[in-house]
Amino acid sequence: MSEATGNIESNVRGYCRLFPAVFDTAVGSTLTDASGKTFIDFFCGAGSLNYGHNHPVAKAALLDYVSRNGIQHSLDIATKAKVDFLDTFERLILKPRGMDFVVQFTGPTGTNAVEAAIKLARKQTNRSHIVAFTNAYHGHSLGSLALTGNKYYHSEFYGSRNNVTHLPFDGYLGDVDTADLLAKMLADNSSGLPVPAAVILETVQGEGGINVASRQWLRRVAEICRQHEILLIIDDIQVGNGRTGKFFSFEDAGLEPDVVCLSKSIGGGLPMSLVLIRRPLDAWKPGEHTGTFRGNNLAFVAANAVLKHWADADFESQIASRGEVIQSWLKQVCERFAAQNFCYRGRGLIWGLDVKRGDLAAKVIRQCFQDGLLIEASGADDQVLKFMPALTIERPLLFEGLRVVDAVLCRVVG
Ligand code: PMP
Repeated sequence: MSEATGNIESNVRGYCRLFPAVFDTAVGSTLTDASGKTFIDFFCGAGSLNYGHNHPVAKAALLDYVSRNGIQHSLDIATKAKVDFLDTFERLILKPRGMDFVVQFTGPTGTNAVEAAIKLARKQTNRSHIVAFTNAYHGHSLGSLALTGNKYYHSEFYGSRNNVTHLPFDGYLGDVDTADLLAKMLADNSSGLPVPAAVILETVQGEGGINVASRQWLRRVAEICRQHEILLIIDDIQVGNGRTGKFFSFEDAGLEPDVVCLSKSIGGGLPMSLVLIRRPLDAWKPGEHTGTFRGNNLAFVAANAVLKHWADADFESQIASRGEVIQSWLKQVCERFAAQNFCYRGRGLIWGLDVKRGDLAAKVIRQCFQDGLLIEASGADDQVLKFMPALTIERPLLFEGLRVVDAVLCRVVG
């Protein structure tokens, strides 16, 4: 056990194994541990800190709210914090995009949103089957786990896969058009695939290895769903909230999903999740799908404060230009290490460097941590280094973080 982490390594399971330090304070894209060492953050709370740590506008709003005794919990009651968030969300996000969604708060975690979405789809369609995709990640509770594609998380003891079929995601079968496969299987009585209640997908699979679906594939899947009256659920928990450059990750493809799951960064750094339900599909009776912690006012306050960034016309272009910095660096790394067959993929400010081996990625992560950078891996074998800084990261910190990874790769790969 290291001196820095004390009892925590033996008593707590979690990231302290990956990043053995006790962190004390954090501002923007840096964290400082108890010994005073500072780290750059490319991990970003697995996508829940798109605006960085302690964003000044969120912090000021929270301090003000607490200091004037704002209501903290709002299950089944309307509060000013909740109403203000809903107004801002409608005005800045939904209305300018011509979206007519009902907002349902679902609890603190992304999993809560996914559970609500699949239950709603089943109730609305009177069908129980769901199609999900290879490498998908939708959560670890029994319902959402059934949708998660990675076998590592599954066990026969957890019960049935809950009427879920996993089909190949875009790119999973190389050049084979897997949307066509879905269309054929639905049209063919002998395929064994029942018409599902819903198709659920991430437009960029964050935990699955930064697999990016093409616009054409997404549009084709949406069209197939429409033809068969299957609900299209977009899980934008990790890559929504601006991660791909637009507020919603499906905007570029022009999709009109039936249900959208949001969590992580929607709460401005605090726990919050919701589903957006296309208005005619809102099938719930009052109290039919509920949960105590689905009205956390502190999260509404922080969320309301950070959403105002979307009113700042420059923000989207800043995300794009930071993404280009990472992309051109990755291109150059892959050329440099051509013998190792590394490859890269991503969109906006979520990028992956596939180093092909989980043990190599783990070594890079450990060395980067020693050199003051938090970075994680994803993918079936944890073989994809994940570049997911805050959308607000200052350019010098971004360059410095990339320089750390570069130096580590040179040492580790040679
Ligand atoms: N969906 C996606 C796409 C996710 O990335 C995650 C979390 N990594 C979840 C669902 C589950 O969210 P949570 O861990 O907050 O339950």
